[in-house]
Amino acid sequence: MEQELKAVIPKDLALKCVKCGLCKSVCPSYHGEEGSFARGRLALAEMVVNNEIPLGKDVAKQWNECAMCRRCEWICPNDVQYKEIFVQARRLQDEELGRDLISKAGLKSLEFMQSSLGRKVIKAAGKLGGILPDEVKVPLPSGSVKFMPKPCGEPFGIRGKTFRAREEKGTLLFFTGCMIDVFYGKTGESVIKLMNALGYTVVVPQDIKCCGAPHLYHGNVSAFEKLRDHNIREMERHNFDAVVVACPTCGGALIEDYKKDWKVYDFTEILQKEGFPLKFHGANEKLTFHVPCHSYSAMKVDPGTFYDAIERVENAELVKAQKAQSCCGFAGLWSIKNPRLSEKVQKEKIEDFRETEADRVLTTCPGCVLQLRDGMKRFKGNQKVEHLADYLAEAMVEEPEAEEKVKREEATAGPGGR
Ligand code: SF4
Ligand code: SF4
Repeated sequence: MEQELKAVIPKDLALKCVKCGLCKSVCPSYHGEEGSFARGRLALAEMVVNNEIPLGKDVAKQWNECAMCRRCEWICPNDVQYKEIFVQARRLQDEELGRDLISKAGLKSLEFMQSSLGRKVIKAAGKLGGILPDEVKVPLPSGSVKFMPKPCGEPFGIRGKTFRAREEKGTLLFFTGCMIDVFYGKTGESVIKLMNALGYTVVVPQDIKCCGAPHLYHGNVSAFEKLRDHNIREMERHNFDAVVVACPTCGGALIEDYKKDWKVYDFTEILQKEGFPLKFHGANEKLTFHVPCHSYSAMKVDPGTFYDAIERVENAELVKAQKAQSCCGFAGLWSIKNPRLSEKVQKEKIEDFRETEADRVLTTCPGCVLQLRDGMKRFKGNQKVEHLADYLAEAMVEEPEAEEKVKREEATAGPGGR
């Protein structure tokens, strides 16, 4: 049994690492030890596969400190497929050592959030949200605290609806993702507003669950496969030309792991493909941008696409941050399991943004929005953090006839309806 499980780590892929060490320079978890960045973690994987060392707690500690940001993969000159190797390494770790409590609870809560009971509970919490501040201080199991967003006023509010552009040039299926569903409903509306203005009808399926990426990155392959199969069935009930996302972790999973021939785009890529026909008017301010790791490491979006979009905003100045493309320190459950590492990375980001003297920090990932807002509170930053979709939807100059041109039909989505 043990032999069979150990054979799961793809040794041939791990052996592609030529030990150059380039990945050390980009790894958010590196803290001086060889085992705290990709080269060392891969060497441990090789030794485990070769039965040179047991898969014990020391190995697990080094692997658990990995944020799965995949910046090592992005910079690697030898095309080492770090994710493919580590999904299997963590799967093996799960089998041999069991899953830690935070991961167990976190992954289960993502599944619960998208169950019918979970949605009822979150919708009820959304109604009570008026009495809470925008960010709620939540104690973490590590003894640390995190400023978490409260559920938005209408969680899952855009689900099961079709938002029609009158002179439509195509249909996009919007894969919202858990964070937009629960916390950042306004971002979902902003994406729809932008896509409608481009002439795309937007379909938001009723019963999409978590994309499964957090499960996959934790090595919980069977849970990922269940979520993927469910989502594929739900998505295929609709006719669409492409999928649009505003969360690069969801987008990466759809592109790499759903194995469908769908076109999947970040919303900024659609703006770019259309040649940026929309007009945006800023408020005489400086803007800076945080490039989410999975946007380039998983979705393979050129960061220039985001900057191109921001540069279209009249009356605003783009100031690039030195560390714009480094990790924000969120990485989902990683920030909860590794609070000290996460806070170190987060602090560096906040200081880097402070140096730009920008008024706003924009980004294209709801998880990064959460982490950077938390960081601004924690390290006394005063810059506003916003999803780029929200900023652009707000700054969009609507032509007088635009309201006439874009007819929004809120109808039950898809064949047969629900
Ligand atoms: S950059 Fe690639 S080849 Fe070089 S040490 Fe890191 S994983 Fe290995
Ligand atoms: S995935 Fe990110 S945290 Fe993990 S080894 Fe690679 S660069 Fe470091």
